[in-house]
This record gives sequence, C-alpha cells and structure tokens, in this order.
Amino acid sequence: MEIHYLTAHELKDRLKKRELSCAEIAGSIYSRIDEVENKLNSYIRLDKEHALSGAGEIDKLISSNAIEISDFTGIPVAIKDNMCTKNITTTCASRILENYVPIYNATVIDRLESRNYILAGKANMDEFAMGSSNENSYFGPTKNPWNTGRVPGGSSGGPAASVASGEAICSLGSDTGGSIRQPASLCGIVGFKPTYGRVSRYGLVAFASSLDQIGPLTRDVDDCAAMLNVICGCDGNDSTSIDTAVPDFKSFLAEDMKGMKIGIVKELMAEGIDREVREAVQMTIKMAEEAGGKVEEVSIPSLEYALDVYYIIAPSEASSNLSRFDGVRYGHRNMQARTLREMYQRTRAEGFGEEVKRRIMIGTYCLSAGYYDAYYEKAQRVRTLIINDFKKAFGKFDVLISPTSPTTAFKIGEKIEDPLTMYMSDICTIPVNLAGLPAISIPAGLSADKLPIGLQIIGDILREDNVLKAASSLEKAIGFKDKPGI
Ligand code: GLN
Repeated sequence: MEIHYLTAHELKDRLKKRELSCAEIAGSIYSRIDEVENKLNSYIRLDKEHALSGAGEIDKLISSNAIEISDFTGIPVAIKDNMCTKNITTTCASRILENYVPIYNATVIDRLESRNYILAGKANMDEFAMGSSNENSYFGPTKNPWNTGRVPGGSSGGPAASVASGEAICSLGSDTGGSIRQPASLCGIVGFKPTYGRVSRYGLVAFASSLDQIGPLTRDVDDCAAMLNVICGCDGNDSTSIDTAVPDFKSFLAEDMKGMKIGIVKELMAEGIDREVREAVQMTIKMAEEAGGKVEEVSIPSLEYALDVYYIIAPSEASSNLSRFDGVRYGHRNMQARTLREMYQRTRAEGFGEEVKRRIMIGTYCLSAGYYDAYYEKAQRVRTLIINDFKKAFGKFDVLISPTSPTTAFKIGEKIEDPLTMYMSDICTIPVNLAGLPAISIPAGLSADKLPIGLQIIGDILREDNVLKAASSLEKAIGFKDKPGI
C-alpha cells in the first residue's frame, strides 16, 4: 500500500521501527496532493514548504531522543478551515474572512501540536459550515474522489475528500447537523461526532453554538479512537465543555458485540431512504447478530420533527453568532460606503454567500419579538421531546443504528437550487445533534455504481465506549477495503 493510504497507527509503527521518516510521510502526502488536488479542490490553503520543513524538524527531534513518537507525531492532518490556526488564514470558506489571520490556536490545534502533528493544510468546506454538499464554498466546490461529478458531502467535504483520496492521513471536521458523518459516509471513511461538550469549541468559528462539535475523520475506527484521546477533555476556555474524566478510547475497540443491545431506528429505515442504502444497513444488522449483538427495532416518534426544529434553532443561533462580522472588527470591509450603516450593509451583502444570507434571514425572523414564542421557543420545546425519546430508547438499548445518509453521493448541481431537498440529506444525522449524543459513521459497502454507503451508530450521552465497541466490531465484519479510483 502506498504511504499516503496508510493509517496513522500503521505509520506510527513504521516510524517507531525507523522504517520511515516524518519527512517521507509528508513528502508522500504532498506528491499525492500534487497529483489529485486540481481535480478535487479539497483544500483552501496548502503550505508545502512549511509541512516538509516541519516534518524534518520532527525527524531531528526524534533522532536526538528529544521527543517520543506518540499517536499523530509527524502525521499530516487536514484541518477544516473553521478552526483557528495561529498566523495561518482561517476563512470559513467565506469572502468575509478571506484574509482573516487568527492570533491564537483553537484548543484542538494546541492539543495536536503537543503531539507534533503536521498541518497538511486548511480544508475546504461549505461557507460557515452551512450545507451538505460543499457547493457553498466561496473557493469553489470540493469533488468526491470516488466520482468527481459527485459531491463529497458537507459541510466537511474537504476534510472527507482529503482523507479518502490520500491527500491527508486524517482530518478534523465540525458537526452541527451531520457535517462530519454525512461527508464521511459519502466518501467511504470513518467520521465521529463526540458527545456535545466532550471536545472544546474554543477557536472553532461558531455556527450554532448549542449543536457544534469538533471530531475526527479517519480511515479506520482505531485512528478515530486515537484522535479522540488527543482532542477530548475539559477546557477552561469553553464554558460548555464537560468536566469529566477522559477514558482511553482505544480500550473500547472490540472484536465482538457480545451482550450488546442494538436498536434499529424504524423511522430512519423507511421510505425516503434509498433501497441500496437500506439493504446495506440490513446486511450489517445480520453481522451484528453474528457478532453476538441482540438486535430489535425501535421507534423514535418525535424524529418526525427533527428537521423542522433544526432549521429554526440552527439559523437562529447562526444569525446571532454571525452578527459579529460587520466590517468593523475583522474580515472584509466595503471601503466605498459613506455612512456606518451603509458600510455594514455593503460589507455583509458582499461578504456572505447566498445560503448564509438565507440562514441569517430565517434566524433573525425566528428570534424577532413577534415570532420568538411561535418559532424559537416552540422549537426548543420539541427539542426536549426528541431528547426524551432518545433517553427512553437508551433505557433499553446500548446503541442505535441507522443509515448515515439517505442516499449515496449525489451529482454536483443536483440539489443546490432546491434548499429543502438539500436539507433532507441530513435527516438521519440532525436528531443526534439536537440531543447532544455521540455518533459515528463507518463505511458499510459500495452501491452498484461504486459509491460508498455509510452506517451510523449512535450512543447515549458520554457513551462513546459503546459506539466504538460496536463500530470496531462491525468494521471487522464488514471488511471495507476499497479505495477510490482517482
Ligand atoms: N447540512 C447541515 C446544515 O446545513 C449541517 C451542517 C453542519 O453540520 N455543519 O446546516
């Protein structure tokens, strides 16, 4: 296998045996980038010199025994461009932040730096993480490495495409309504959204603060657990981060599912889910039983309202969070305006794309004095019903299973003119964010036209252990080894 297609744990073993150097790993990732990036557009910003010289420095530290090789030492990681990287542009794929250079690192970046990771580049995304196809990027869409006429999913399309194609070993994305799991599913890799509050959001540019969560996109569940070990943990800079012990997530990787109770979410296996997707998930249910799991169907009736609730709460929070981009404090500013008001208006009109404006308008409307009770408050009440329904389900089951996405990767341009159809792409993932639960997407196979299908495994609050246990044993049973032809 080429170096660029190895996992972080395989590379760590080779580094330890001195069979490879960090410079060779970074070199191989950058030759792959040179080969495919013009077809994929996975990145907004690349810095080959910096990556290669950084890798050389780490090699020196290793050979002088100044540092030990731990997980992610010398591993090129793509970072979604909504996570602040000190002295390196962080654009959120928006014109309004095109030239924004943060003066500090997001907490997750500090944690990766403490392991001497390599920044492969800042990855492409939907503007401010709003979207399901990566077509909302100011820097152009990212293409799916399995078929470049198709979308990679979104909003973490860049982080997913880079890992799937060998332009990075793994990546960090953010997930507000599915933005890690859905692109992982469409690109045939693993993506994990941890419990809300597990990972610090400090330095993540906020979209919807009560839903946003950072998590890994990797080639296997093992790397995913290793990344959780690095990024999880309480952070005084984020008041919503949970003050609880961080377990060794790798200790939950298992061979079987003996004694596990698994619920198949009825509402997410119904009409509206592609036949091929449903069949692939049904196959994995058989495997779960063979691996010792006890499988039963479960109904979560309030899921019916999840999409409606999300598209009130997320835009409401977004309209508030994005009010800071006004041309005064940072980012783009219109210089022709003659009054302050005109400057705000023109800056925001020029700086934001269509989808972002749509969300700001919906959110501002839902939060306005006359409509707050009817929309925002009502949505919060229904959110509580969804949370309670999940609680009830987890009284009976260790994990819940569903497809990650109702379809495989759709065609570029197919849904962009129809926001409501686009919003439907997240029907299986959004409820999980509303309830703050941990969930993973793992590859479950390929469709007849050779596009990846993803399986979602959902756990109760802070029960990443169950999710990882089920995911690692199903990963073995499924044995997905395919790579895109690009
Ligand atoms: N696709 C969903 C949206 O557009 C989710 C995005 C996300 O998780 N960041 O809001």
